[in-house]
Amino acid sequence: YLSIKGIEKSFANEKKQVKVLDNISIDVDKGSFVSIVGPSGCGKSTLLYLIAGLEDANKGEIRVSGKKVTGPGPERVVVFQESGLFPWLTVLENVTYGLRLKKIPNKEAKEKAASILKMVHLSKYMDAYPHQLSGGMKQRVSIARALVMEPDILLMDEPFSALDEQTRMVLHKELLDIWKKTKVTIFFVTHNIREAVLLSEQVIVFATRPGKIKTVVSIPSTKDGIMPDSVTLHMEQ
Ligand code: ATP
Ligand code: MG
Repeated sequence: YLSIKGIEKSFANEKKQVKVLDNISIDVDKGSFVSIVGPSGCGKSTLLYLIAGLEDANKGEIRVSGKKVTGPGPERVVVFQESGLFPWLTVLENVTYGLRLKKIPNKEAKEKAASILKMVHLSKYMDAYPHQLSGGMKQRVSIARALVMEPDILLMDEPFSALDEQTRMVLHKELLDIWKKTKVTIFFVTHNIREAVLLSEQVIVFATRPGKIKTVVSIPSTKDGIMPDSVTLHMEQ
């Protein structure tokens, strides 16, 4: 469903080319929840941007739902660490913004947005402005704004990293509920292996050496987020 084949990506850096991703191939099933973990600078965000179509690969091919990725589009939405909401628009207006660009009639857009805001427990805040919301609430709006586009894949780049532990735990539960309800395919980037194990069905570990996947471990989602010994082992090798 998400098929990443032989991806190579380099950046020009003070006269020399730095290869960030080297021959990366990953397959993700429709409806699954996959996380990527790895140290800072190993290329997690770069891979996510390639899937989003925000960057172009030097080599290889990415397909989502059979379609080759050639640029950004609403079928591959990104939720960033910062919510990036428009401060001059209400919660409802932020969520319907993309639908209006798609020329979805106002009434239908509002109904869609309302039902998704209900899912993220923000029905009471539809007319609030972003500055009136907590960090966790802003990320909920950001998730709602992504989901309302009914994407083929939801790309999340450390969406909860800026939140306190308590809020993060609540949002983990909500995200899992949303995933079960919508069956959307989720590609989740995080520094936090515990978070990856807690949330996802499959954890992909990137090695310290840029672009080399040291190992790909498939582990079932756990209720308590306890890391299986095998994962600890692979990370420390
Ligand atoms: P972090 O966990 O800190 O977010 P990451 O794994 O997401 O790290 P990337 O942001 O993908 O890492 O960056 C990988 C490497 O590519 C880094 O060395 C970075 O400096 C470089 N890089 C990323 N984007 C660009 C760019 N647009 N131009 C030049 N170099 C870049
Ligand atoms: Mg990153």
